[in-house]
Amino acid sequence: MTGNDKNEVLLSIGSNMGDRKANIEQAIRLIARMPGVCNVRLSGLYETEPVGYEDQDYFYNVCILIDTTLGPMELLHGTQGIENELHRVRDIRWGPRTIDIDIIFYGDRSIDTEELTVPHPRYKERAFVLIPMKDLIKCDADIPDDKSVRKISWEFEV
Ligand code: ATP
Ligand code: MG
Ligand code: MG
Repeated sequence: MTGNDKNEVLLSIGSNMGDRKANIEQAIRLIARMPGVCNVRLSGLYETEPVGYEDQDYFYNVCILIDTTLGPMELLHGTQGIENELHRVRDIRWGPRTIDIDIIFYGDRSIDTEELTVPHPRYKERAFVLIPMKDLIKCDADIPDDKSVRKISWEFEV
């Protein structure tokens, strides 16, 4: 990758339908193959209690750090394409899904548009984001309800 417009981006990925681990691994592979994405680094894999809408199965969650020359909207549209490819259906808000890919940080930028808010507006309330995130970056946020998150053994390389 060349050019000066390379940004470090933190993504949160979750799945609670079908083969959760396979869905997450496939999402990571597809993100790593996006043109303009390199240097993909993974957190551990965690099983987490559902938040927001509780009558659904436990999630698997990871965070990944990437370097990208994609702009924020290009990246969002790319990750939404991957969600669609992995058969994400949107019905219940915060409900069951094969895959959810959220942009937590895009460099140090603040973005607030109808389609994209960065930093992600709810990440500080979410142990399922904060705990994996701490595997990758320094973060002083207090972690709410950390008992809702448990580390899973995982061997995966991008
Ligand atoms: P939450 O955002 O609370 O985690 P969710 O991930 O279930 O909820 P989605 O259905 O995946 O929500 O996305 C709803 C909309 O959120 C998307 O259409 C997208 O435009 C918007 N959005 C805003 N900010 C972000 C962000 N930082 N990352 C991903 N999507 C975002
Ligand atoms: Mg989400
Ligand atoms: Mg989302």
